[in-house]
This record gives sequence, C-alpha cells and structure tokens, in this order.
Amino acid sequence: MKRWSLIGILLIAALTLVVGPNAARPIAAQAPAAKPFGLPFAQPSGPNTWYLGQGYGNTIGSYFQRDTTYRAGQGLHFGLDFAAPCGTPVVAIGAGSVAKVDAREHGALPHNLMLQLDAGYAALYGHLLERSKLSVGDRVTKGQVVGVSGDSFGTCHSAPHLHLEIRSPNYLTAYNPITLIDADWDSLALVGAYQRGFERDLEDPRRWQYPDDQPETKFGGPLLNNYRLPWPPDWYRRR
Ligand SMILES: [Zn+2]
Repeated sequence: MKRWSLIGILLIAALTLVVGPNAARPIAAQAPAAKPFGLPFAQPSGPNTWYLGQGYGNTIGSYFQRDTTYRAGQGLHFGLDFAAPCGTPVVAIGAGSVAKVDAREHGALPHNLMLQLDAGYAALYGHLLERSKLSVGDRVTKGQVVGVSGDSFGTCHSAPHLHLEIRSPNYLTAYNPITLIDADWDSLALVGAYQRGFERDLEDPRRWQYPDDQPETKFGGPLLNNYRLPWPPDWYRRR
C-alpha cells in the first residue's frame, strides 16, 4: 500500500508540473505592467507626513456630491487625495514641463499646477498653499519639488490635503492614479478615510469596489453612479 501511495503522489506531482494551471502560461504575461510614475511626496507616508485620504473613483463621498462638486467628472472623484499638513513639499511624479499655473478652469483652489509629463499624460496638483514658484514652460525632473500642499477650505485645519489628478494630454480624460503610480497601494490604503470604500450599485454590487478597478473619467460625460438601488442611499447622508 505504501509503495502505491508513493507512486500516486509522484504521479500527481508530475501531472501538476506538466498540465498545471501555470505550465502553459508564458512568464511574460504574468509580469505586471510597469507603472511610469512615482508618488507626489519625497517623504515616506506616516502620521506626521502624509497618508491616503479619499480614493479615486466611485467613492461614497463623490456619490453624495454627484450632482454638484463631481458632476463634471461623471459623479466620480476624479483624483486622489493625500492628507498632509499645510506646507508639505510636493514633487513631480514624472519628468515633464509646466503647462499651467493657477488655471481657474481646473478648480482645486486656492492654487493649482498642471504638468505635461513626457510619458504622455498630464498631472494636476490641486489645493496648493501658494502659487507655484515655477513658470509655464519650465522643465521638471521626477522627484523635483514643484509646490507645497494646502487646504481645500484655505484654513490649514479644515481639510489639508493634496488633490492629484492624472489626465490625458488634452485634459479630457482622468485616469485612476493607482494604475499609473508605482507604490505599495495595498499598505497605503489601510489607513485614513480611504478604507470607507466605494458606493455600491445593488444591481451590480461588485463593480467598482476596489482601489484598482475604478473607471476612467470622461469630463462632461453622463453620470456613472446615478444608481436605481444605491448603497448607502441618499437618505443615509441626510440623517
Ligand atoms: Zn480630491
């Protein structure tokens, strides 16, 4: 009996090697796609530096403000929020040049900065504390300080954070920064408001529920989260 067991184990091991689920898959297909950009801070995340705040995409907060603040972005939070004390230096996520300084059409007041990145994207830094010292046309290198973070209410104690968007070069589409910035997002998402999660469509409850499966934003497009059966529902906010 023992000998037959051994033969059985060897047979199973051999079969696993030959026809196992990974046997026929080319190694290259399993490698994750390279993410071209870095984080917008030189310092590591921590309680005294910065941490992830509101996520990108179909957040519960953006759902509740889908007809107001986030209407132009199809009801999605079309950037990533990093909580940081006012005055925290923010750095270029990639090499490129300065496209706009304090462009009113992009909001995210009191100050913002738009970079055109060599990798074929644009990056908007929003809610900066002061006007960037850079000028339109200036070249920036990856990791170079381009400004200092501020507060969306302008107080430095209401909601101090950096709002970062990654857009197409013509600014018409915003992408999920998590798919383009090389960082340990699983660990970063363990703290802060981020873990509160995403609005749920009870007719398709698993869609857009994770940091990395959020849809692109087409500015001016129709609302994506005007659900018939939302959770949490609108009345929940009004309680
Ligand atoms: Zn934001």
